Amino acid sequence: MNQTTIAKDIAVSGIGLHTGVDVNLKLRPAPENTGYVFVRTDLDNFEIPASVEYISHCSYATTLMRRGVVLSTCEHLLSALRGSDVDNCFIELDNIEIPIMDGSSEDFIELIRKAGLAEQQSPRRFFRVLKTVDFEEAGRRMSIEPSDKYEIECVIDFPHRFINRQSFHFIFENGSFGREIASARTFGFTNEIEMLRKANLALGGSLDNAIVLTPDGMLNEQPLRFPDEFIRHKILDIIGDFALLGMPVLGKIIAEKSGHAVHAALMSKLLKTDYAWEIVEAT
Ligand SMILES: [Zn+2]
Repeated sequence: MNQTTIAKDIAVSGIGLHTGVDVNLKLRPAPENTGYVFVRTDLDNFEIPASVEYISHCSYATTLMRRGVVLSTCEHLLSALRGSDVDNCFIELDNIEIPIMDGSSEDFIELIRKAGLAEQQSPRRFFRVLKTVDFEEAGRRMSIEPSDKYEIECVIDFPHRFINRQSFHFIFENGSFGREIASARTFGFTNEIEMLRKANLALGGSLDNAIVLTPDGMLNEQPLRFPDEFIRHKILDIIGDFALLGMPVLGKIIAEKSGHAVHAALMSKLLKTDYAWEIVEAT
């Protein structure tokens, strides 16, 4: 099993969920052992590697920053790259935020599928978990433990009739990301959206790129894509954030009411616990 990149350039345009800015995005093949690297073409091709060390804040989306240059809402695209088994890719964009598309990873998955994958010479590397590491804060819990596959068990609990308690056990195997996770959209609540707008966030948000929940229903006229679309989107976010470890994970993530900040805290604790993981090559 060798590393892969995309077989040719692919481009797409859209708007940023939080900033509302127009952005042109281009994915380009990258050499072995590059991982994912964002390239701000509007700032002299300034590079920001997709890495835990550049996480700057993560309240409503995961934002990276290197030497003052910011890159926002990277998680749905990184999820699509990881979910499509792409190891190496340059991600060029000409603005501050990755386009939100339809609020899921589906459009990105489709683009990558059209471009195709190119196998490279070096063996794929994995981030293998050796010891359990956990993080807990204010009723939010997350842990990662050894497993011979990449799997995620997640629980959410929102007092809303469409959500309540949802749980999902996702196992990364051939095509499972595309079938079970990729099309699950992000969601928000009307009262939260007012608050976000006041904070100059969610400026690009609309019913075309999010499920918007009212206290007793939702504003979207189209039905949910899955009855448990909400938990599936949480798993999409976890896969996107954990792509910042730089390679596919061999381990089991267990998450209860987690969010981007908890993902970042667990990854940072994990990386500091050097006996808890190792990098292995595929044989
Ligand atoms: Zn998300």
